[in-house]
Amino acid sequence: MTTPTLGSNTGAALGSGYLQVAVDLPLDSTFDYLPPFGQGAAAIAPGTRVLVPFGRGERVGLALGASPGSGQDQSRLKRVTAVLDPAPLLAAADLALIRWAADYYRHPLGEALFAAMPARLRRPEPLLEPRLRGWRLTQIGRDQAAEVLARAPRQAAVLARLQVPGAGRGLTPGLTTADLTRALGECGAALRALVARGWVEPCLLDPAVATGVVPVLGPELHPEQAQAVAEVRSAMAAGGFRAFLLDGVTGSGKTEVYLRLIQAALAAGRQTLVLVPEIGLTPQLERRMGTRLGVPMAVLHSGLGERERELAWRAAASGAAALVLGTRSAVFTPLPRLGLVVVDEEHDGSFKQQEGLRYSARDLAVRRAQVTGCPVVLGSATPALETLYNAERGRYAWLHLTERAGGACPPRLDLLDIRGQPLEGGLSRVLVRDLGAEIAAGNQVLLFLNRRGFAPVLTCHDCGWVGGCPHCDARLTLHLHHRRLACHHCGWTQPIPRACPDCAKDDLRAMGQGTERLEEDVARLFPGVPAARIDRDSTRGGGLRRLLEGARRGDYPILIGTQMLAKGHHLPGVTLVALIDLDQGLFGADYRAPERMAQLIVQVAGRAGRAERPGRVVLQTRHPDHPLLTALLRGGYGAFARGALAERRAAVLPPFAFQALLRAEGRGPEAATELLSRAAGLARGIGAQGVSLWGPVPAPMERRAGRYRAQLLTQAAGRGVLQRFLAEWIVGLRGLKVPAGARWSLDVDPQEML
Ligand SMILES: [Zn+2]
Ligand SMILES: [Zn+2]
Repeated sequence: MTTPTLGSNTGAALGSGYLQVAVDLPLDSTFDYLPPFGQGAAAIAPGTRVLVPFGRGERVGLALGASPGSGQDQSRLKRVTAVLDPAPLLAAADLALIRWAADYYRHPLGEALFAAMPARLRRPEPLLEPRLRGWRLTQIGRDQAAEVLARAPRQAAVLARLQVPGAGRGLTPGLTTADLTRALGECGAALRALVARGWVEPCLLDPAVATGVVPVLGPELHPEQAQAVAEVRSAMAAGGFRAFLLDGVTGSGKTEVYLRLIQAALAAGRQTLVLVPEIGLTPQLERRMGTRLGVPMAVLHSGLGERERELAWRAAASGAAALVLGTRSAVFTPLPRLGLVVVDEEHDGSFKQQEGLRYSARDLAVRRAQVTGCPVVLGSATPALETLYNAERGRYAWLHLTERAGGACPPRLDLLDIRGQPLEGGLSRVLVRDLGAEIAAGNQVLLFLNRRGFAPVLTCHDCGWVGGCPHCDARLTLHLHHRRLACHHCGWTQPIPRACPDCAKDDLRAMGQGTERLEEDVARLFPGVPAARIDRDSTRGGGLRRLLEGARRGDYPILIGTQMLAKGHHLPGVTLVALIDLDQGLFGADYRAPERMAQLIVQVAGRAGRAERPGRVVLQTRHPDHPLLTALLRGGYGAFARGALAERRAAVLPPFAFQALLRAEGRGPEAATELLSRAAGLARGIGAQGVSLWGPVPAPMERRAGRYRAQLLTQAAGRGVLQRFLAEWIVGLRGLKVPAGARWSLDVDPQEML
């Protein structure tokens, strides 16, 4: 008999001789084990990893403390094989936050706990020695003048960087390759050359120690910034939780406000957690924070290697890193001295985890500040409607930044009615003329098209055949550059057929326009003018940084981009932004589509005229009277949001209602629906007052990656009502007989109806 005994969740007499352990499995229960010989269960602190016998093998588990006792046959309990960590990895507050998340999002505790840890520590790996490989000057290198290397500018730059007084991590100054790359761009070859000269040598560095940059003073704050800083600082001084919405137009200096607040936290000896939506935005912010604050910083994002990630995470957990900058999952980073939480671009959809433990990092950040008792600042130029609603009713303090820093004018928004207009390469004549004028004046223009590839459809002009994905209810996008048809939903690709697969005629045509095609069209319309295309295809393998640097230097008068370019990247030379095909986004099936569309328009518009040059934004549309567009044009995002919130209120949709979406998928169309019908039966059996059920219905794209999908929506007017229902429903769901090959998942506060 190898099955461990289920632990109970009743809070009976504590201090039994058994250890409660969670394992990384989709099981709702924890398990009881005997402590290793010679140790009491109480000696193994909660948050410590242990190796335990499980099934036929062994697994890593996380100790949760002495078990209250399962009441089952104790003679069958197994013994912990080994204690893996000398001290707990997670403190009581971290465990409490993850427990809360597992409970709220109705996810198995063990999986939630391990999802919150660096991947390497989910295996029985010993903790890494906290040392990073880096580079430092040799004695000869210290005495060299960078000018000696006039003919090798990369080497000169690396040498100069290492020679900055006080630069470097640790007692012996040195920098990692990553530190150098962040500051200077790719420098591997230069490093090798300097090592060959005997001027630079490898060394080991302490990851938790600052890169030694001397803090630089910031610019003077304008009155609104100063007011915002003062309000959050007084909340910090008073102690306790307070949530702030920092509602600031693009370019109004939100980052400067964050920096001053982080400095205040530092001065009080507290750590700060800063969440950003995209890995692409971290180097920019990291550099700015690094040069301004000069404190040990841990950066956490999905682009890190396992070892780097573990070291950064532990630098935060030990308290050595004063600041954690990270994407979504960094919200779980242990921070023993946490004193401030910042969520930048809080409206961004990438704060929502869409698989496994489906959480909102923004919402968890607020929760975290609440249990820690510290302020949280949610910053955005286009706050999410639910956040605005919280600010409107006074749950969040509302801070406004209405002026652009440095007195830059806000961009002017113009609708360009293209009904009946001849288009060239998707651009109206008026737009082509305006683009030409800006380019001729030495300015930069940005063409926004949220569709990558050459064309979204390949069709036979003769018989009407359309290239569809064999695994999804979706069309294949034509990628001429890679000579493939590709599905953007499941990743399937295939060669481009030479002739129509149905009628064999040789008349296949590309319909519609993606960024690749726009790039070609623009090259024809503006011959000889360098253009850079920035989308997921052109930036694979780290090209984003290079392209953005070129864009900022002004190498490309024309920039073409998808929403990748809309987010936070500073492009001071851009004076004209054109959104060339908005209309498909105006009529989305999802009730959140207008909100996302408005945010996207404002974010893209924010790229224009950030410096002293005024900017202009042109929206090409065939629906110039669309209420979303007219509200945005007349009153900006605020006016749009007021209207949209009124509509949500009337339709009783979030934030005026609370939802949980049960999704199911199976090999055939019946399995998913059948599973959800049983789930709906269970829900009706509970008979929860005030909870409505919608469905089951097929998902908007029913077949995806060869699986048929359906969904069942539950909704209630109050969070508490919904949570009480879910608590009961999930027990039934976990006991549900699942048809072969089918599976389900629950998404509390879903962001997308996919
Ligand atoms: Zn055909
Ligand atoms: Zn597909």
